[in-house]
Amino acid sequence: MRLKGKVAVITGGASGIGEASAKLFVENGAQVVIADIQDDHGNRLAQSLAPNACFFHCDVSKETDVSALVDYALEKHGRLDIVFSNAGIPGGLFSSMADVTLEDLERVISVNVRGAYLCTKHAARVMIGAKTRGSILLTSSMASVMAMPNGPSYTASKHAVLGIMKSAATDLAPHGIRVNCVSPAGVSTPMLIDAMKKSFPSFDKHCADEMLETTMELKGLTLEADDVAKSALFLCSDDARYISGHNLVIDGAFTSCKAFSTANSMDFLP
Ligand code: NAD
Repeated sequence: MRLKGKVAVITGGASGIGEASAKLFVENGAQVVIADIQDDHGNRLAQSLAPNACFFHCDVSKETDVSALVDYALEKHGRLDIVFSNAGIPGGLFSSMADVTLEDLERVISVNVRGAYLCTKHAARVMIGAKTRGSILLTSSMASVMAMPNGPSYTASKHAVLGIMKSAATDLAPHGIRVNCVSPAGVSTPMLIDAMKKSFPSFDKHCADEMLETTMELKGLTLEADDVAKSALFLCSDDARYISGHNLVIDGAFTSCKAFSTANSMDFLP
């Protein structure tokens, strides 16, 4: 019960990492407001977690939606302790910097960057107003610390999320508000599978698991949405009460050793 008595908002809460986090936060004693644009999924999940969860329709790219979301959580529960800004979309996966379209960039930025920015801004407004020593968590990606090959829009957006986190952690520290990021490697959620399907129509969860097992460094298992949810639980709980401005990369050492192991493969030797 690491979140006993706390109220949490989770954006992108209807699916994947957000869904796993909503379940885990409820198991740990939180009241959760699941925010998403997928109303059916979100409502169904909230019903399955009732009375400890509810659904609120929110498009994170719209300031009026995000503002209404945090106000709703405060009004319904009388407090707001945690905002987990997790909603995100992939960019075109196989478009290099030379041919990526401005539309692709703007679409990805509008959700991944505007969404994170607006959630942080309005979480801060409510938490400062209520004098809550709250926790704001943003889902970035390992694409916040390295380039995703042929994914310039997504890479740019996730680097920007890191900038939002650092800036907010600095500005909100005087109010006792902590701000952090989780930055996962690949997880076989609908986002990843649907993005791959655009280029490989028969791509499914099995292919995703196989791809991740082959390409990641840490062998014998693949990263699951639950693993990310557990990291989110830690960072949002009082166990992490002095951790702020931190980017928790969850990648099984991928970003630490990828460049070296590629060079080390010796394929270039005659
Ligand atoms: P997912 O598709 O399962 O979940 C994303 C959720 O965000 C969906 O429910 C979707 O409806 C919602 N969403 C999309 N646009 C929205 C909007 N404008 N407003 C509100 N909600 C919106 O994918 P996921 O993998 O769980 O993604 C969660 C986060 O994790 C994203 O920020 C993503 O970039 C990040 N991430 C994912 C991976 C991965 O490999 N799956 C890796 C690193 C980071």
